[in-house]
Amino acid sequence: MADDDKQAPGTSPTPDELQQSLQDFFGKMGNVQWGGMAGMNSEVEESVPEMPQGPGADSVFEFDYIPRDIKAHLDRFVIRQDEAKKALSIAVCDHYNHAKYLRSLENENGKLPEGVELQKQNVIVVGPTGVGKTYLVKHIAELIGVPFVKADATKFSETGYVGGDVDDLVRDLVQKAEGDLDLAEFGIIYIDEIDKIATRSEMIGRDVSGRGVQTTLLKLMEETEVPLTNPMDIRSQMKSMMSMQQGGGGATKDTVNTRHILFIVSGAFSGLEKVVRKRLSEGQIGFGADPTERPMDGELFNQVETQDFIDFGFEAEFIGRLPVRVVCEKLSAADLENILKFSEGSLLRQYEREFEAYGIMARFEDSAIGRIASLAEKENTGARALMTVCERLLRDFKFELPGTSVSELSITDELIDRREELLEEYRELGRKVDVEKASRELDAFCRDFQEEHGVELVFKPEALSKLAEEAAAQGRSLLQLCRQRFRDVQFGLKLIQKNTGRMTFEIGPEAVKDPDKYLSDLVVKSYRSGASEEENSSAG
Ligand code: ADP
Repeated sequence: MADDDKQAPGTSPTPDELQQSLQDFFGKMGNVQWGGMAGMNSEVEESVPEMPQGPGADSVFEFDYIPRDIKAHLDRFVIRQDEAKKALSIAVCDHYNHAKYLRSLENENGKLPEGVELQKQNVIVVGPTGVGKTYLVKHIAELIGVPFVKADATKFSETGYVGGDVDDLVRDLVQKAEGDLDLAEFGIIYIDEIDKIATRSEMIGRDVSGRGVQTTLLKLMEETEVPLTNPMDIRSQMKSMMSMQQGGGGATKDTVNTRHILFIVSGAFSGLEKVVRKRLSEGQIGFGADPTERPMDGELFNQVETQDFIDFGFEAEFIGRLPVRVVCEKLSAADLENILKFSEGSLLRQYEREFEAYGIMARFEDSAIGRIASLAEKENTGARALMTVCERLLRDFKFELPGTSVSELSITDELIDRREELLEEYRELGRKVDVEKASRELDAFCRDFQEEHGVELVFKPEALSKLAEEAAAQGRSLLQLCRQRFRDVQFGLKLIQKNTGRMTFEIGPEAVKDPDKYLSDLVVKSYRSGASEEENSSAG
């Protein structure tokens, strides 16, 4: 969101006043020389969503999924949360099929026929932090190819300018859609921490703004036209004025309709479980006998009613606009372990790739994965804690091992228990020259060289140790060193080959030290008449 561009409320003019004064200003200027403002123009360029370049308002968003497809896609990334996956898949399919149907009616008739009802499938997701709420929505949006924006509801209650902030979400969708208004109108807006705008009696400080935010969001969730430019943002106002003055803005659409935007809101709703239990205990169902302070789970969630949300502090109209309700459950250590092992977005793959970039093969052993998961569970921040734990565990290794001769790192139980000692052992290993490994790498280099250039290189043992020492000292692999050091020698060698017919070249320590000199000596000799092959081939 373009926070920087907003003016503090209170002293600033109202949006209408601002718009009016800008219009007056540009009106008075008449024949404005826009070229003189080129610098300003380009700055404005960045802050404002581009005008529509997409397929145009006539196109109908292509949507061709069934709920099972969407759930199957989510299963690849998100562990557990099966009910949430199902409910979201259905809601998304219903929403987009319906939106597609309405849009096609609209396109046929020029406007929406009277009497067509749209009960939007906006969703409320209840669940603690780090259990995959955002992850689910992000993957849904990616799969179906609609723009997606996320914001925290707390942001709206903290600032005094609710309407503009909320509208900014819609404008952000346009930016995410790269200016394609048509696509933006099918986007997904995801608002987290929605429970923070509840207005329970004990939260007096928040009451007013919370209700205000609910009302503003309600309008957005129903249907409204959001202007493409933020009325409080002077730069974007000027941009749109300029474009109108230049004759570019006349026919283009300058608002975004929110009718087909899908809203998903979420929050931890801590305390909602108490509201439900209280209601149930007052009734005859017998739930009241349950003395445990369990967090919200699927079973209890099935008992949640609209009234519970109202008692929690939501306006009836607001909660009424969120007909699909799902719970994402707390993740156990076993779930966290499964996330590491089976999710396509697993953090382990990320760590492996990161180490691989330094030429280090990192391998997580099963026992260590289990340990990481149980350490993470204790943090109480869901799957987010996996990153915290891995970071703590591996940061020093990631700092110290790159640039040493260590090329393998096993993340084991032992590494978790004796991190400092193991780190020291790896440091020690990194300082050692591993001749065997160097020799394998040299063989690989010679093999590649012969395949590519048809010339056989034979390194003397002294040459190998010299290269191995150099590579270790420079903290790179011998293969990398050879590739760089002998990058262009094939040209000289081929020339010699032409002059003498020699296929094999023996490389000694001198040749390793200064390949250019070695080569030029050889080339000179190869031209000398009567030079023997033996002489040509072993000058290093
Ligand atoms: P929240 O529930 O607070 O929205 P997120 O969805 O942002 O949490 O989760 C944070 C990260 O943790 C995700 O990006 C993802 O990598 C991982 N994660 C969380 N829950 C799951 C899950 N159920 N399965 C796989 N990964 C998960």
